[in-house]
Amino acid sequence: MTHNIGHITVIGAGAMGSQIAMVSALAGFSTTVVDISQDSLDRARQQLWSRVDRDVEKGRRTAEDVEQAKDRLVFSTQQDEAVAHTDFVIEAAIEDRSIKRDIFAQLDKTAPAHAILTTNSSNIMSSQIADATNRPDKVCNMHFFNPALVMAGVEVVPHAGTSQETIETTIAVTEAFGKDIIELKQEIPGFVANRLLNAIRVEALNLYDAGIADFEDIDQAARSALRHPMGPFELMDLVGIDVAYLVRMAEYEQTGNEAAKPHPKLAEKYEAGDYGRKTGQGWYQYAE
Ligand code: NAD
Repeated sequence: MTHNIGHITVIGAGAMGSQIAMVSALAGFSTTVVDISQDSLDRARQQLWSRVDRDVEKGRRTAEDVEQAKDRLVFSTQQDEAVAHTDFVIEAAIEDRSIKRDIFAQLDKTAPAHAILTTNSSNIMSSQIADATNRPDKVCNMHFFNPALVMAGVEVVPHAGTSQETIETTIAVTEAFGKDIIELKQEIPGFVANRLLNAIRVEALNLYDAGIADFEDIDQAARSALRHPMGPFELMDLVGIDVAYLVRMAEYEQTGNEAAKPHPKLAEKYEAGDYGRKTGQGWYQYAE
């Protein structure tokens, strides 16, 4: 038991929540993943089971570890019941501030008083959610990267009112998950990793826009000179140009900061509907 954490609840069984729940179960925690949609839960179970079974076939995990993790993981549509005896919550529901506030208000009513409530949100800082509860000191961001079963880093981000004990427990859980801790001392939109990513992206778009180099060569520089696994344009195509655009737009609308505005070259692609791999056309063209 880590800091007396026996049971963990993950809210949301989408792309992130499902894998975070499996990370928790594999780390030995009794885990419940909650979603309002039974379809999401069914899909999550099917995808997780086939993923960990494949890991066993490839020798990446033992059959025993995987079977035990499956036994520890419960899928539920009943949030109140799931959190009645929980110690630690990781919210990974849809990216909508008012939905998250409602979820946290309800968690506050139904989870034990000692339970810590974290959010995996990439863009909504916990200070924007904590005041929906009567335990703001027990709220912070715990930010995983996609896919959560594979990516090692987790950002732990307190808001100004998060207690030291909450930070320490969240770090201890991150460690128990076998993840690398990226500890922020204070919150900032984009946290650290996405700010670094954005700085590279903006510079890449500026160089391209100024006609200094083609986007293929800028990607080549990132791969062959900086040892990045992929260049900034390839990465935009993978993540989705729509996602990259909307994240900047949301920050611009929240802060009024002109520097956060999506780059005109990014806006052009977005407006043309060229979202990257998902539409077959982004910076690069993809075969059907
Ligand atoms: P997703 O759309 O794949 O999944 C969201 C899930 O939330 C759906 O299954 C939906 O049914 C469920 N849901 C909606 N309302 C709910 C409620 N009231 N209670 C319980 N479940 C509810 O989304 P995702 O990509 O997994 O993102 C989830 C969160 O993770 C977001 O806050 C996002 O910012 C964050 N995040 C996403 C990524 C990423 O690359 N996708 C990376 C890091 C963090």
